[in-house]
Amino acid sequence: MIQKFRILTLIMIHVLILLHVFYWGDSIVGSIDFQEFFHSFIKLGIINAGVLLVIIAFLFTLIFGRFFCGWACHFGAVQELSWFILNKLNIKPKTIDSKLVTILPLIILLNLYIIPNVFFALNHPWNITLKMNEPSIWAFLPGFIIGTLTFFVDGFLIIYFLGRKGFCRFICPWGAFLKIPNSLALFKVRKTGECTNCHNCTQACPIGIDVNYEINKFNKVANTNCTSCMLCVSGCPSNALSYSYQSPLKEDVKLSYYLPTTSKINSLLSKNSYFKSIRKQDWIYLILILLFANAIDGMYGIGHFLAYGIGIIGSFLIINNPQSLKITKYITNILIIGIFFWHALIKINISIGTQYYNTDTPNIFQQTIRLYAEKMGEY
Ligand code: SF4
Ligand code: SF4
Repeated sequence: MIQKFRILTLIMIHVLILLHVFYWGDSIVGSIDFQEFFHSFIKLGIINAGVLLVIIAFLFTLIFGRFFCGWACHFGAVQELSWFILNKLNIKPKTIDSKLVTILPLIILLNLYIIPNVFFALNHPWNITLKMNEPSIWAFLPGFIIGTLTFFVDGFLIIYFLGRKGFCRFICPWGAFLKIPNSLALFKVRKTGECTNCHNCTQACPIGIDVNYEINKFNKVANTNCTSCMLCVSGCPSNALSYSYQSPLKEDVKLSYYLPTTSKINSLLSKNSYFKSIRKQDWIYLILILLFANAIDGMYGIGHFLAYGIGIIGSFLIINNPQSLKITKYITNILIIGIFFWHALIKINISIGTQYYNTDTPNIFQQTIRLYAEKMGEY
């Protein structure tokens, strides 16, 4: 029953989004995007709808946990749909168990959203201003082609490679941000009955949390990735779990809840086929993902999310290359690396060219005219 209600709220969120875009428009309220908190508030001091959304979600998480992620995120809903479709096609992707679920979203949050905007704010005037109708709804959204590709890669394809909620776990900087209040939340999934160690809760968790281990060790789900989706609660045959309140004075909050978990979920890896661990190769994946994502981020209008989605898929294709022949394996790997390397070269050249242009514009114009006088004459 509770899961039907959750799916209904995810559908309602889309109805509200459509009403905002096509009925109300942005004359009163502009883009409601979490990025606004970083690009508008931290950078410039502007308060708008996106900034208010982040503040409300932060306070809400302090009380109810990461409800937003499990019950109200449109990208979460797309991933649920992808999971549903894959299951209907009898494709059952394994949930990838990795330390990167803690490390990668944090790198994206700090590197792309917090650090550049804080540096900008420190070197420019910063004034608090209220601009509810700015920016426009489409300000940060890519064009049709890149937008569709982003939904396809991050909403659908990534589920095939990383398992249910792969984008939330491995990429979403918003989720990384909400981990901070999540650990302090008053309401949590807690152990309130006898556990028979059947592991159903762990298998039900779309986030890949070892719920069975956590509730028996901490008496609650301590993992800050928990999205309060309640799939573990409704999946427990012994009613050992409930979503319940505890006074913050009695709550223990440890730094370890924010750190990568130890590989306890490995206890399940041998027994069933729900999980696949890549922990031994975590660092290789991390290096490849960062190199690949940065090589294409910004090219052809590709945004951060799409770049990281493609980077992750590229890394998985190389490390788990399904080709049976060695020669075809080498050729496809070289091809994949070559495509990213080629784009990295273009990006480096664009950056060098822009630097020259910004620092030495008059000389560059003079040189261009001297070298290409005839062609320049045409213009
Ligand atoms: S621990 Fe339970 S509530 Fe939290 S994400 Fe996993 S299934 Fe959902
Ligand atoms: S599903 Fe319930 S009984 Fe089974 S391991 Fe989880 S908490 Fe224990």
